[in-house]
Amino acid sequence: MAVPRNRHSNARKNSKRSHHAKKPAHVSTCDNCSNVRLPHTICPSCGAYGDRIVLAKKD
Ligand SMILES: [Zn+2]
Repeated sequence: MAVPRNRHSNARKNSKRSHHAKKPAHVSTCDNCSNVRLPHTICPSCGAYGDRIVLAKKD
């Protein structure tokens, strides 16, 4: 394995990490009930995916 010859400065280390910040999760709204949900997932409040109900609600 390659071993680094010289130490990197703190500025070089920190500038390398400038892109590492966590971005907020992308969300979309349900077409059926307009609740917020993650894209490409079944709506947790009404169970719809696309134009049809995939999960029937209990109770
Ligand atoms: Zn929904």
